[in-house]
Amino acid sequence: MDKTEIDALKEKLFYNPKHASLVVPDAEIQAADDFCEDYKTFLDKGKTEREVTSEIIEMAKTEGFEEFIPGERYTAGDKIYYNNRNKAVILCVIGKRSIIDGVKIAAAHIDSPRLDLKQNPLYEDSDMALFKTHYYGGIKKYQWPTIPLALHGVVVLSDGTSVTVTVGEDDKDPKFVVTDLLPHLGAEQGKRTLNDGIKGEELNILIGSRPFKDDDASETVKLNILNILYEKYGITESDFLSAELEAVPAFKACDIGFDRSMIGAYGHDDRVCAYPAVMAALDAQDPDYTVMSVLTDKEEIGSDGNTGLNSSYMKYFFNYLAAMEGYDGYEVIRKSECLSADVTAAFDPTYPEVMDKRNSAFINKGVAVMKYTGARGKSGTSDASAEFMGKIRSLLDNAGVVWQLGALGKVDAGGGGTVAKYVANLDIDVIDIGVPVLSMHSPFETVAKTDVYMAYKAFCEFFRMK
Ligand code: MN
Ligand code: MN
Repeated sequence: MDKTEIDALKEKLFYNPKHASLVVPDAEIQAADDFCEDYKTFLDKGKTEREVTSEIIEMAKTEGFEEFIPGERYTAGDKIYYNNRNKAVILCVIGKRSIIDGVKIAAAHIDSPRLDLKQNPLYEDSDMALFKTHYYGGIKKYQWPTIPLALHGVVVLSDGTSVTVTVGEDDKDPKFVVTDLLPHLGAEQGKRTLNDGIKGEELNILIGSRPFKDDDASETVKLNILNILYEKYGITESDFLSAELEAVPAFKACDIGFDRSMIGAYGHDDRVCAYPAVMAALDAQDPDYTVMSVLTDKEEIGSDGNTGLNSSYMKYFFNYLAAMEGYDGYEVIRKSECLSADVTAAFDPTYPEVMDKRNSAFINKGVAVMKYTGARGKSGTSDASAEFMGKIRSLLDNAGVVWQLGALGKVDAGGGGTVAKYVANLDIDVIDIGVPVLSMHSPFETVAKTDVYMAYKAFCEFFRMK
């Protein structure tokens, strides 16, 4: 065989995922770049599950989606959304087939790691006012000091009124910050392990330093802050007890690299899958099967709670859909299929030691399909069947979706989970698929634009199944 023949044979026989820009036409790269401009806007508009939920509902309404009414009889082409407590949302387009043929689901989460304020957060020390925090999700705590933070959330006042708070996103807004020790005095701190470099109780957010005017009583800086909050929002200190206030990075999403091939932002995990899943649902025109994008909460803390996928809210929604045609929910659930749309670790050349290079996702090589996640001996995962993996693989290949395998690092290097197992536990075929991320769970994560677009293409193809 000559070299050309050997190359052709390699091409035929080897698994060798390629850089997306080498295999798709320029027009598609342009489409990816355009898609990502809107994705960046989406990121900047929603930084908490509540904000993302209302953003998705607004987008859906514009496309003709109507709020789901339990007991209503929906027919092919109807577009509905189900709002779960303003923190999670299901978009659903009714298909031409009977509901008994099952539903095609794309499930992504819209919560991201962050610093939540404690229940009684506000205190004054040494003429500075600060907030105590309790981190949400898996963070490397040392990454959160000395970056500008914004405060988002709701405060429910004693009269039941809900006040929405967003401070730090407008260019003119003040920001907040967790301080860190100067290196000159950091010798002892430097001896800590990286995990303990900044401890949980050191993630205190600086929010003010000017005392209440002409008052020489104690805690006047705190008093001054409360006075500002009272004048602006009507908040007193006890109102923090019924609040959900979340500190998130104040950065905006931006392009990364001279070639602008990547996006840096807070919260790619998992809005980089949620946004394509939402767009695929909005773009679904007269689908054969009923299609559903499930945008859920609480994944970062284990999916527990009534807005997470370990709760029954999705199952109950199925029950309603099934009842429209006189079926039981389980009959529809067991015929359904799901793409669990969540990010995976991208291979980082600076830290190759935690990855098995042959079994890693790379940025720009397309959306990553993970047969399983979990830790140690595949603990805590839904290990998708070869049959379902095979089905999804042909679907993606036939549609020209650039995809690759994904895995969460070397065996025993660590691990993690997604919503896949909760969906699988309902008796649904499910596989993990998502965008590879660099610096996952950091305040500023990086993804490649072509991969974001390939995720969108994958969900669209799934929803177009005949
Ligand atoms: Mn995730
Ligand atoms: Mn995560």
